[in-house]
Amino acid sequence: MNEADSERIGRSFAARGFELTDSLKAADAVVINTCTVRQRAEDKAISQIGRLRKWKLARPDGKLFVVGCAAEKLGRKYIRNRFPFVDEVVGAKSLDKIEALLPDFPTLPDFPPENRHSVQKHTTGQPSPLPTFRPPTPRLPDSPVSAFITIMRGCSLKCSYCIVPAVRGEASYLAPEEILAEAEAKIAEGAKELILLGQTVNSYRYEGKDGAAVSFPALLKMAAALPGLARLRFMSPHPLFFTDEFFRVFRENPRIGRYIHLPVQSGSDRILKAMRRGYTRARYLDIVAKIREAAPDAAVSTDFIVGYPGETEADFRESLSLIGEAGFSFAYCFKYSRRTDERGLEPDLDEAGMDERLERLLAEVKKNSGAILNARIGRIEEVLPESRDFGRTSANFVVRPERGAELEPGALVRMEITGVVRNALKGRPVP
Ligand code: SAH
Ligand code: SF4
Repeated sequence: MNEADSERIGRSFAARGFELTDSLKAADAVVINTCTVRQRAEDKAISQIGRLRKWKLARPDGKLFVVGCAAEKLGRKYIRNRFPFVDEVVGAKSLDKIEALLPDFPTLPDFPPENRHSVQKHTTGQPSPLPTFRPPTPRLPDSPVSAFITIMRGCSLKCSYCIVPAVRGEASYLAPEEILAEAEAKIAEGAKELILLGQTVNSYRYEGKDGAAVSFPALLKMAAALPGLARLRFMSPHPLFFTDEFFRVFRENPRIGRYIHLPVQSGSDRILKAMRRGYTRARYLDIVAKIREAAPDAAVSTDFIVGYPGETEADFRESLSLIGEAGFSFAYCFKYSRRTDERGLEPDLDEAGMDERLERLLAEVKKNSGAILNARIGRIEEVLPESRDFGRTSANFVVRPERGAELEPGALVRMEITGVVRNALKGRPVP
């Protein structure tokens, strides 16, 4: 979500004549998009802001923006008190307001950036030397092959450990016309894969003025049919919002990537209940089975939290055993971080205890992923290359070409899988 927001912010700047740069020294403006989902992310954001004091001293005319979830949580007052050199603070709930705060920076596209100050001088109070102003095409780090599309903002669930609803607000859904228009624009820019984003993305439902509603599967179907699109993905669905209609659309539309990231958080019913996740281990496994029934090749990955308050060794083992039982291709594992202010949510484990569980979980994930990757050897897979030496299968496995072979970014290619190198498959294009 944050990456998608950063991209959107980048586009707003680009429309004002800015270009993206990796060089802090060359930057006229710096935007720090912050995360606060775990304390560590917030700490990192804070130290990053601190490090920009030097830049601001060297560039007093430069503009420093602190935006996003940690900005929302900490507030403008706190950030400006602690870091008076910050120019603007925009919380995650009001990211739309950034537009209005952007400095006017009318770089004319036909003038190289190093001349922009003179360009600005030239245009002030004078007729523009060019008949019309065309906003430059944004140059962004976003992969041109795979693009994000936000279809919902915020979240209306109340998982006990989670700060997202507090900093991003209640769930709200974008209109299907708006989503499809953005999708078409990104395809026109060269995207071959779209990833629809939302915290509970499959809860998507939009009621138009005429009372007709568009459900998540209906939206998927429309997006999957867009001309020029090779692959459609979505992230992250929540176990509560799967419907029979979804499984039917998933089965009937092979353009929808055969990969679902389905965060489980814990394998223990007791912990799932305490987390207020709304499902049991059995219900979760039932969804995984239905995914595989609809698409036997599908890969499922997940997120786990270890060391949730009250998690016993027996609960933890339920998470461990779920890895093999669900057959996760991959899992992001996080140590519990206290974010909410609810009482009783202090972790019982000390840092060493958390680390020990995390390591065991990671080892089990690695073992399982290794076996799943190896099982793909010998198969012919359809790969969407994102660069010359990197592509993904429909089930989201990374494939690297064997030495000597090169891929053509954006052009689907059939590849024979010949081996596994670290966490990726190796393969060679076949006719
Ligand atoms: N909406 C998604 C998750 C969004 S947050 C879902 O419900 O599936 C991304 C991940 O961060 C979560 O899946 C969870 O594993 C992790 N996370 C969220 N809050 C956390 C916390 N307080 N401590 C540790 N990990 C957390
Ligand atoms: Fe947080 Fe739960 Fe919403 Fe995911 S579903 S964003 S974990 S509250």
